[in-house]
Amino acid sequence: MDRNWINSLRISDEYERGVEEFIQFSKRNAINSGHDGEKIRCSCVNCLNGRILDVKIMREHLLCDGFLRSYKTWTWHGELLNLPRVP
Ligand SMILES: [Zn+2]
Repeated sequence: MDRNWINSLRISDEYERGVEEFIQFSKRNAINSGHDGEKIRCSCVNCLNGRILDVKIMREHLLCDGFLRSYKTWTWHGELLNLPRVP
């Protein structure tokens, strides 16, 4: 999945689409991360995945405050870590 939008300007279409993708991803994988799909851990620069918010509010945070740039593997949102295998 292309996650370059994380570094895009917050006012760009690319960024807005990325935020929607992130929200859809979180909902799809809610079962892995202990979310109920309505409330999701917020990955904005202020919450730092530390607060669980309504999707509506979280979207506002991501659009207004910005997405945490270092958060590229969405482990708090149900993404499973692919641990490197020993060859
Ligand atoms: Zn937030």
